[in-house]
Amino acid sequence: MMKASRMNTPTPPGRNASRADTATNAGRPAPARVSLPQYAPAAVREAPAPSPAHIRGQRRMIDSHGRVIRDLRISLTDRCNFRCVYCMEPDVRFAPSDALLTGAEVVRLVRVAASLGVRKVRLTGGEPTLRPDLLEIIRGVRAETTVELAMITNASRLSREDARAWREAGLDRVTISIDSLRDDRFARITRSTTTPDDVLRGIEACIAERLTPVKVNAVLIRGLNDDEAADLAGLARRYGVEMRFIEYMPLDSGHAWDASKWVSAAETRDAIERRHSLVRRVDDARSSTAQNYDFADGAPGRIGFIAPVSSPFCGACNRLRITADGKVRPCLFSATEWDIRTPLRDGADDARIAELLIDATWTKQAGHGIASPGFEQPLRPMSAIGG
Ligand code: SAM
Ligand code: SF4
Repeated sequence: MMKASRMNTPTPPGRNASRADTATNAGRPAPARVSLPQYAPAAVREAPAPSPAHIRGQRRMIDSHGRVIRDLRISLTDRCNFRCVYCMEPDVRFAPSDALLTGAEVVRLVRVAASLGVRKVRLTGGEPTLRPDLLEIIRGVRAETTVELAMITNASRLSREDARAWREAGLDRVTISIDSLRDDRFARITRSTTTPDDVLRGIEACIAERLTPVKVNAVLIRGLNDDEAADLAGLARRYGVEMRFIEYMPLDSGHAWDASKWVSAAETRDAIERRHSLVRRVDDARSSTAQNYDFADGAPGRIGFIAPVSSPFCGACNRLRITADGKVRPCLFSATEWDIRTPLRDGADDARIAELLIDATWTKQAGHGIASPGFEQPLRPMSAIGG
């Protein structure tokens, strides 16, 4: 059993407290609580500078730090039927529908990205199941590529029939988010009328339809659901799924992230280990976002910790994101986005789209710097970037 002390747990910056105490931020007023329009990103640029000729010539997406992109996350919408407290404020404003990539544009981007070496694609949002043309998008990607195709959903609309239709259209697997097993808390966190039982039925539907391996995500927030780590871990044992705990990141639309609400992966693991001993898996892919553990007693399922704040995995990052309104974000925390929707709509050919993806990738920053003193939260929240 690994001990918590072996996990690197730097103190993250508090938005209002410790950050303001640093030399860099001294004297700055505390940021006001704001609810920003999701579609007003910081700095959208038309086209990145050309990457070096020998990089363009390789026909793959490689950044200036030597990382090769294999994993594309593409957001189908910034809308959602939940308003999770750590993600989306109730009054958030969404992109107009004509700003969203069409299904055909999504499929085309995936095809071009696959020709540049992308092997995994995750359809995300917002809530991707709100897209009326979801099945057409899945079918289109499947018809034109051989990528591993996954989707992440809040499972509020996930019946067995949905899961079957997704599988028959060509989806390979599903990740489902659930942050509490208690009705009252689930309602408080998601500000929705969905219940934990609805979500559990969604997990069962995906398993029954072999959309596997099913992964389940939870974000723990101090004082809200941080006492549920072991209960949520029990889902891994009950369903044989991978239960992943994601550290709360400063990517909420209300910009209310605060270090005091953040729960480290190490603390979460300790809480789980008080009920179930865990054994670190040795076969994690280098680019895996999660540190994965098995149950020491051989129970089915596994536990993953995604610790972008306490143990950043930027050095091995092989991901690129495209927002629902067609902007390439080389990093979750990018301050700059590259517009790819305009060239798509202006008749750019596949070679030009590929060039734009290669050039945008070249600009990928070395790391997110969440724990560094000068860190600034991006204006785009997770739901608009595509988690
Ligand atoms: N609506 C879908 C869902 O909730 O699964 C897909 C989109 S959601 C943005 C993708 C993942 O991002 C979810 O697992 C959610 O819990 C996570 N997420 C959202 N905001 C986050 C934040 N501020 N910190 C960490 N994870 C976050
Ligand atoms: Fe919606 Fe997912 Fe964000 Fe919750 S985490 S508000 S379900 S996009």
